[in-house]
Amino acid sequence: MAKEMNNTKIPPTTIARLPIYLRCLQDARDKRIDLISSFELAELTGRNAAQLRKDLSYLGEFGTRGVGYEVDELIGQISKWLGTGTVRSVVVVGMGRLGQALCNYQGFLDKGFMITHIYDIDPEKVGQTIAGVEVAHIDEIEEMEVGGIGVITTPAAGAQEAAEKLVAAGSKAILNFAPTNIETKADICVRHVDFASELQIIGFHLAQTEKGLPSDCCDDRCD
Ligand code: NAD
Repeated sequence: MAKEMNNTKIPPTTIARLPIYLRCLQDARDKRIDLISSFELAELTGRNAAQLRKDLSYLGEFGTRGVGYEVDELIGQISKWLGTGTVRSVVVVGMGRLGQALCNYQGFLDKGFMITHIYDIDPEKVGQTIAGVEVAHIDEIEEMEVGGIGVITTPAAGAQEAAEKLVAAGSKAILNFAPTNIETKADICVRHVDFASELQIIGFHLAQTEKGLPSDCCDDRCD
């Protein structure tokens, strides 16, 4: 039986690797693998075994020396730490090209996230049904007290207002796709996704390599 840690401060780079471990463990379970060694799991995840063992040690004492990890148990523990043991509600604001693409993607539910509410400001979009969810007007969000994880896919100019409305409606976390910073109370978890700056970071590493200069791992999940 695993010994869990409760007060551990887990480094952000370790947290960023947990979803990768989880996905590989789920693949292993689909292949009916019950036990996996740290070397096998490290190989599947493209990480080294020492780093993997260190990462998992932040979560608790798992595995048996010389035998490996019980796949189901590790899936359960990582899911618990990622807070995805139960399905969480996701609220998307901005039903343009990106918002619609995200809402139509079928893969989030498997990971424990269900898009439950969708908002837009455009009267032509309000009332439409996207992926089984009716688009409501953004002004209705507060009275609906939806909570959930807010996802902002409005233009930059509407992002701050969208964030404020999401927080007023009970969201404690926001994933912002708009290319602008948003200000919230300190206890709101805000993360930004920026495809263009990811490409620019890759561009930097490619340029270094093309100049014959050393370019360390460009994966931000590496220590
Ligand atoms: P779009 O113009 O197709 O859609 C924007 C939608 O937001 C529209 O339906 C509009 O009516 C709605 N909207 C505007 N103001 C609003 C408000 N205050 N409240 C609610 N809804 C509002 O835009 P798009 O191409 O889908 O892009 C959406 C956002 O995502 C943009 O900010 C874009 O720059 C950004 N984006 C980010 C990435 C990334 O990697 N982070 C990639 C692509 C696009």
